[in-house]
Order: sequence, then structure tokens, then C-alpha cells
Amino acid sequence: MKHAPRPNPYRDTWCGHLGAERAGSPARVSGWVHRRRDHGGLIFIDLRDRSGLVQLVFHPDTSGPAFAAAEKLRSEHVVSAFGDVVAREEGNLNPKMGTGAIELAVSEMTVLAESETPPFPIDEDVEGLDETLRLKHRALDLRRQVMQDTMVLRHRIVKAMRDVLDERDFLEVETPILTRSTPEGARDFLVPSRLQPGSWYALPQSPQLFKQLLMMGGYERYFQIARCFRDEDLRGFRQPEFTQLDLEMSFVDEEDVIDVMEAVMTTVFAIGDFPAPPPPWRRMSYAEAMLRFGSDKPDTRFGLEVVELSDALGGSDFKVFQGVLDAGGVVRGINAGQREMSRKDLDALQDVAKRAGGKALAYAFVEEGGTWRSPIAKFFTQEHLAAASAALDAQPGDLLFFSSDTAGVAANVLGTLRLELADRFGLVPKGTHDVLWIVDWPMFEPVEGGGLTAIHHPFTAPQGSFDDPASLGSRAYDLVLDGTEIGGGSIRIHTPEVQQQVFDVLGLDAAEAEARFGFLLDALRYGAPPHGGIAMGIDRIVAILAGRDSIRDVIAFPKTASGGDPLTGAPAPVDAPQLRDLGVKSLVEPEAD
Ligand code: ASP
Repeated sequence: MKHAPRPNPYRDTWCGHLGAERAGSPARVSGWVHRRRDHGGLIFIDLRDRSGLVQLVFHPDTSGPAFAAAEKLRSEHVVSAFGDVVAREEGNLNPKMGTGAIELAVSEMTVLAESETPPFPIDEDVEGLDETLRLKHRALDLRRQVMQDTMVLRHRIVKAMRDVLDERDFLEVETPILTRSTPEGARDFLVPSRLQPGSWYALPQSPQLFKQLLMMGGYERYFQIARCFRDEDLRGFRQPEFTQLDLEMSFVDEEDVIDVMEAVMTTVFAIGDFPAPPPPWRRMSYAEAMLRFGSDKPDTRFGLEVVELSDALGGSDFKVFQGVLDAGGVVRGINAGQREMSRKDLDALQDVAKRAGGKALAYAFVEEGGTWRSPIAKFFTQEHLAAASAALDAQPGDLLFFSSDTAGVAANVLGTLRLELADRFGLVPKGTHDVLWIVDWPMFEPVEGGGLTAIHHPFTAPQGSFDDPASLGSRAYDLVLDGTEIGGGSIRIHTPEVQQQVFDVLGLDAAEAEARFGFLLDALRYGAPPHGGIAMGIDRIVAILAGRDSIRDVIAFPKTASGGDPLTGAPAPVDAPQLRDLGVKSLVEPEAD
């Protein structure tokens, strides 16, 4: 804490600021009872405020009525205490406590509030606390040191982002929460309008269109710590509402945006004492990432790279592989290295492959002499085995895995398997980090049932010719840290003609595009500067820097994986009259608790 508190009836200093130099002077502190110990007729209280802990000591002879009151103190009671700061004797110094050289000999104490017995300990960092219980009593959970440290780190990270951008002439501008759909590939959260019954606001999936309009408005350099809302299935690194560092710049190309973000993130990494390699960070094309790592957010800290085996294993008697190859698919493999795995473990990996969209995962153990111990070995000639082994750099004792499917599915299966194996065998070297840009993205990807969809969003500038839209590239870039996408952005379309071409590919004809995005097309018609930007996932960044597995641990008031908030009970049913006012009728009865 940088500033001393203004002295008032509660305190004249922070608990954590009392040091040996204050010995002999009086002090008044306030806070929570962190821990209480009774010792040889004396009562010791560790009192906690945000700055830290200080030991209060109550003496039956000198503390007066405060001694009797101290006997009744329990964990998390709130008190204000006054007394003399006393240097501790040599044997009683506590080097683990910032204020361990002194204690406060209390002469007066006021109990400001009492606490029931907390449902979990506040004074120690217990692993494996029930998360629902923590979220239900979030005010208590937030008192725990680990949460306080994380929230302080989060503040410092966000402040650093603001400072770096301010130095570079970026303006912070707020954009609406009640708006129209901004397509980022998720479902919208909708809010019914009371004043225009039957019409709905959408909560923004990102400020994408507004930041582009700000460029058209001449603001040149915008940023915002922006809340985004996406109604999608939640996992450890997803929340229905999350926070992005969102920015946009005019008259720029990819290099300008990348340069700004490398400056921002270098400062952020320094703040978090995170030993990321210094920029410039290397660039890898989307195609290479998908081929070598089976992922558009490759974890490049360990090997086990995916190897193309379509040629090596083509033309065999193995109908499963050959059928896929004949249909234009691929066979790819991974050399998992020297491993023994039980039947049960291998079966478990089949499930991993299936969850990743694959039909099955083939495997082989390489034996002395280059033969394979594998259910599929009999279908292949010696030449096949030798060619595949050479491509996989296989040695006797190595365990090989194969996926044969469309290129996309095979990549996903082996990409997922790679991460699973790394987890299982602890393949990520401790303390190593890697940051890289994924560039040269395709503009579109096929959707099930036909048609194309934008991989980033439909405002990303395409590269190439519209003659074959499926092969268009895009001017997008993602930043990947240790296998997690922490940000992404692109150079945008800045003419109405190109924007309509992209809409056409997506099946939005001029009338429909006008109806949904008329405001954007209109602004594009009045002279839009070339522009581009990026958005960084602040929750993810803080979680990684704080070493937390879940972004719920770095958000003050998060939702659970089912989108609920055990604290407030949201989402909750509303009264019938409230719905009537909104002109809304529910088709389902709310589920009972
Ligand atoms: N709006 C994009 C997103 O939220 C980021 C960007 O293109 O700047 O992913």
C-alpha cells in the first residue's frame, strides 16, 4: 500500500506497515482476526488488512477490558485496536511476517463486527477447496491471500496495458453493452426491449464494429478494457462474460499492430515476473501449425510433432487407411518415444481420439529389427514399415500412433493426443515458455452441411482472389503463449465493395447485409482508413501469469461451468409481470433448485 491511511477512529496506519522504526510509538489498526493463540496467560491475535498482518498482544494486567474482549475473539471478527508498538525480544522475532520485528501491545480494542465460523479456512491456502462453496461465499474467498495476490496482479497488468498504450497515443473509449449482434462465432446473449416490445438487444461478443467505426471517426488509435459476452459451452479458460484488451489503429499494416502488442505484452510479462522470451516473437503459418502440431494454438515447448505419412503408408492392404486416402484424406502419425503403455491406457487414448472427432487411433510398438508389434502391422509390407519408421524417426522401443481421416480431423486427433501424452508423461520442461504469432490464416472454413464461415470474423481483410473463396487467405494473426491463444486480430476490410464480397460468400446478400450491418457499410462508404487491431484475453493472461488453471480464479465474481453464479443465484426466474412488461413469454418452466 503506497499511501498511509488518513488517521480516523479506526486506524492511523496499515497493519502491514508497522516496523521496528515505529517501536515505542502508539498505533491504531483495524482489520480481521486472522488467527488467535492463547499462550501462558497472554492472547496473541494476527490482525489482517489488505497490507498484511500484524501481531496484537493482549496482557491480562495491561490490556484492561480489551483482554476479556480478546478472549472472545474468533476468526474473521473485525476489530480496531490501539496500543504501543513494541520491539519483539530476540527469540520472538518472526522473519516470516513482514511485521515480525514488532507487536502491538493493545490497550484498547473495539469489536466492529463478529463473524460466524467461516465455511473454509481463510488463513491458509488449502488446496482442493470446494469451488461452489468458495463462489457462494465469494466475499470470504476473496479475503484469502492467494486471491488478493491475484487481484493485485490483475490490477497491475491492466494498469500496465493502459500506461503503455497511453504513451503511444491510444485513447480509451467505451462502447455499448446493449447493442446488436457482433458475430464472433458464438451465440448472442439477448436482452428484450421493454420500450420496443418484440425487439432485442444483443450483448456484444466484442466491440469489433464499434472500434472500426471509431477508426472511421478519425480516432486513429483506440483501446478499451472491454467486457465481451459469448453464450457458448464453458471450459476452464472460458466464461460467458470475459475481459479483453481491445485495440484498433488506422493507417497500419500487420507489423504495426504486432509491434504495439509486443511492447504491451513485454511490459505485462515483466510485471508478472514471467520469463517469456523477449520479442520479436517468431511467426508460424496456420498451415504449418496445423500440420506439425495439429493445432492453431500449438504448444511448441515439447516435440512429439505430427508427421505426414500418406505417401509412406499409401497403397497398402489396410482398407481403413486406404479408403480414407482414396477419398482425399490423410494418414498422419506421432512418435511418442520410448513408452510402454498398458492395454487399458491405450484404450483410454481411443476415447481421447474419439472426443477429438476421430473414429479410431492406431498404434504400433517398434521392435528390434524394425518390425512393428501392432494389430495393423500385418497389412503393411516391409517397405511401408520402413518408410513410415524413417519419416517418424522411429527406434526400437518407440510407441507410434496413427490417425487417418480428413486433414482437419487427423490434425485435431493427433494435436489433442499430443497434449494428452505431454500431460501424462510430463513432457513440458518446467519453467520453459514460448510465445509465437500464428499468421497466414485462411479466410473461411467449410461448415457442416455446406457453405463457408469466416474463421476469424467477416470484417477481416481477405488475401487472394474471390474466384475461389474457399482458398482465400486472411490478414489475421493470433498470439499464442504456451499452447493457449491469448489474443488475436487482423487488418480489416476498409471498402464497402470488399465487405459485400465477403458477405456474399457467407450467403448474406446486399439486402440482408444492409439490414444487419447497414451502419458499418454506411460508414465504409464515407472514406474509411485502412485499419487493423487486436484483442487480448486479459483473464487468460492473468491466469497464466498467476499460475492458475482456471480463469475463475482471476475474476472477482465469475460464473461456474454451467454459466451459473452460486453467489447471487443468477440466472434466476423472473416474475410473470416482469416478463409481461417485456412482452416475453417463456416456453419452459424454470428448473427447480
Ligand atoms: N474482435 C476480435 C475478437 O474478439 C479481435 C479483433 O479482431 O480485434 O476476437
